Amino acid sequence: MKHLLPRVDKYFKTNLHTHTTISDGKQTPQEVKEIYKAKGYQVLCLTDHNVMVDHSNMNEPDFLMLTGMELNYNHENYRPKFDGKTYHFNLIAKRPDNVWTPWNVRRTNPEALEYNKLMECENMDMRHEVDITNAMIAKANEKGFLVMYNHPTWSCHSYPDYASLKGLWGVEVRNTDCYNAGIDENNARVWRDLLNLRNRIYPVGSDDAHKVEDMGGSWIMAGAEKLAYSSVIDALEKGDFYMSCGPEIFDLTIEENVVKITCSDARSVSLNNHGRFTRRVAAEENKTLNEAEFDIAPFFEKADENSFIYLTVVAADGSYATTRPYYLKELK
Ligand SMILES: [Zn+2]
Ligand SMILES: [Zn+2]
Repeated sequence: MKHLLPRVDKYFKTNLHTHTTISDGKQTPQEVKEIYKAKGYQVLCLTDHNVMVDHSNMNEPDFLMLTGMELNYNHENYRPKFDGKTYHFNLIAKRPDNVWTPWNVRRTNPEALEYNKLMECENMDMRHEVDITNAMIAKANEKGFLVMYNHPTWSCHSYPDYASLKGLWGVEVRNTDCYNAGIDENNARVWRDLLNLRNRIYPVGSDDAHKVEDMGGSWIMAGAEKLAYSSVIDALEKGDFYMSCGPEIFDLTIEENVVKITCSDARSVSLNNHGRFTRRVAAEENKTLNEAEFDIAPFFEKADENSFIYLTVVAADGSYATTRPYYLKELK
């Protein structure tokens, strides 16, 4: 039997996207941290707009701060609070002291100006164009960052805006702030498109919280060996996590062509591949299930090295958890 999710003592509840008073958030970094701690999180990345900050002085034995920022730059057709395109990416540093940023943005917020002096700014060209964006992503990868593509729906993006992007680590499938604001920010389709364009890219749930009401709605559960910076980054890089806005996944295994998942109370579990090899197990009416099995022998008959599967657990309230893609060679 092979375990597809790591067997570790504990999965760390993680939010990779939040704002504070350093940019346009309502709460201070310390207040945001306390709120997430109280909600049972162990890992938090404060990603203020265009300000890369090392918050490791806020670490505690049971709480880890990741260094990051949200980079954003608009198309000339961008109109605030209305429409038009904009790129928003989270840059998550693989080392806590890495405060490089690809853009020197002068912000008016006094607190941000203070942090601005601590950043290493590169002053790259930042226009809303795919080639320029790919140059930025490549540079960010080279400089030691995971690059996450944020809220493509809110950003008014369609296929041409993301199909040619390369070097992305993850994409926001669910974003609490957008969801709570009523936007149809369910980006499983964007994620699938990027997978089918031969990108190994992971699905992320995050809050993008600017205020307390949006904190704790979507997250990832990271299967890191221990609560240490390098361990958590290692789990993120390898895809040793799943995203959720409700259900928990306890185990995911494969044995003799049968994929088995155990989870918290669910209405259904579905299995997808890149195309239309799909399966769904649903609980009886008004009941829930806690495990599901899928015989994927027919998948193996036609799969090639780019073929993958992923699973989605849906709870009675509609909340869901999604695994990363698992490719043929990992399943065999
Ligand atoms: Zn954003
Ligand atoms: Zn944001």
